[in-house]
Amino acid sequence: MATAVTAPPMDPKVSEFVATKQKLLINGKWVDAASGKTFPTYNPATGEVLANVAEGDREDIDRAVKAARAAFETGPWSQKLSPAQRAKLIWKLADLIEQHQEEFAQLESLDNGKPLKISRIADVPLTIENFRYFAGWATKIEGNTIPLTLANSSKFLAYTLREPVGVVGQIIPWNFPLLMAAWKLGPALAAGCTIVLKPAEQTPLSALRLGELIQEAGFPDGVVNIVPGYGETAGAALAAHPDVDKIAFTGSTEVGKLILQAAAGNLKKVSLELGGKSPNIILDDADLNAAVPGAASAIFFNHGQCCCAGSRLFVEEKVFDKVVEGVAQIAENIKVKPGFDPDCEMGPLVSEEQLNRVCGYLESGVREGAKTVAGGKRLGDRGYFVKPTVLVNTNDKMKVVKEEIFGPVVTATPFRDPKEIEARANDTIYGLAAGVWSRDIKKAHTIAAKLRAGTVWINCYNVFDPALPFGGYKQSGWGREMGHEVLEHYTEVKSVCASLT
Ligand code: NAP
Ligand code: MG
Repeated sequence: MATAVTAPPMDPKVSEFVATKQKLLINGKWVDAASGKTFPTYNPATGEVLANVAEGDREDIDRAVKAARAAFETGPWSQKLSPAQRAKLIWKLADLIEQHQEEFAQLESLDNGKPLKISRIADVPLTIENFRYFAGWATKIEGNTIPLTLANSSKFLAYTLREPVGVVGQIIPWNFPLLMAAWKLGPALAAGCTIVLKPAEQTPLSALRLGELIQEAGFPDGVVNIVPGYGETAGAALAAHPDVDKIAFTGSTEVGKLILQAAAGNLKKVSLELGGKSPNIILDDADLNAAVPGAASAIFFNHGQCCCAGSRLFVEEKVFDKVVEGVAQIAENIKVKPGFDPDCEMGPLVSEEQLNRVCGYLESGVREGAKTVAGGKRLGDRGYFVKPTVLVNTNDKMKVVKEEIFGPVVTATPFRDPKEIEARANDTIYGLAAGVWSRDIKKAHTIAAKLRAGTVWINCYNVFDPALPFGGYKQSGWGREMGHEVLEHYTEVKSVCASLT
């Protein structure tokens, strides 16, 4: 008799971690919230409580900012450590994550719901490599010498210094909890800043385990403080705090606007990585053997919970039916199961709230006249599973085409003339990413140049690299993550001009 496929055993360290009440990391110590309150984080595959976590609030944010300020002004981080020593610490952190990679993969899958095999091959390795890439930058942040243009250059010596911006608040979402922490912490640490990090309430666990390794690596106290809590309380207090020099936020465009208002009090610097409604364009000369699975993975990867998800699929008329049929078939065959199931290809959505949101969009699509060719509803009644969905018969005015769904739902529409497609693709308040599939490189690059998006993938999708800047045009954000561009958000430029006469 065939044995049933069973989930892999949980790493004992993971079981112990989730069974322990998690605290806040402030000034190198694990502490309770000042209020004594805790909040639960849930397992999205079952809806059951997974762990209890100290609930940081205004007072805890204040304590954390004070610790970060002291570490920045007077601590060994800024007073004693050289850039090379900072680089070594960041690299050591990457090594420690690597030593504990299975633990991180399991925690991430449990808290967020994503397939364990995906956190093993994507979230955790990308996190490690991101820290290594930014470890390299710690020793390469430099200014310039500037020949003055109006004065005789022998009379002045002018140069710029790049200095750390100071105390940084970082607020991150739940879709890639560990990787988003790495995207934020890596460049801030390389630049020599100190940090207060607020993870998403749905997924605080991997950031807290990361905090333990930050301590183990030997970062001085107060350099990284981690305060889980709710957005409206802890997050808002961090964004408004008068002693925070810069806030970096990833999440919804709606909350991004609130962050901006909160930051106005002390005019702290702001960088924002927000939502998207990314067009994915398939021309009729594309290699469909690549474009069809590419279009499916552009939307279904991470259950569509990607800010850059290819959620608006535009297909040239001649190949429309074939592409839709192919993407729908892939959607129907995706194994939607709990993240720990070895067969899982797509897990549950992160929360009941997201489940209701996504199902609301599915209903609205049908109400407005869309036709469902795959999926279209919730799967089962336990956990937050939704079937991968393909909608056709949509028009560019429908809510499902206009608004970010942040779930496994793609709308597919045909187009007749490649010239018409640029305007339709750009007809959105967002501008995060886009895809173009064609064998004709001239056409592909010409379209890429016209797309108002921070990233354009040609004949591929969701390719990320720590060296490749990522961020949004329009309401998809301000500034860029990764690459050398991100370091600009974490440094101030100081011009020094000395008279030589
Ligand atoms: P969200 O509300 O924007 O949350 C992102 C982060 O901001 C979380 O840490 C959140 O804390 C915090 N936050 C919420 N309200 C805040 C406030 N007033 N002040 C300061 N911080 C605040 O996103 P969500 O509710 O998790 O997801 C809703 C939508 O956001 C999604 O459907 C999607 O459109 C978008 N989203 C985008 C990304 C992305 O990568 N660009 C990622 C996730 C979500 P809490 O966790 O306590 O709310
Ligand atoms: Mg959870």
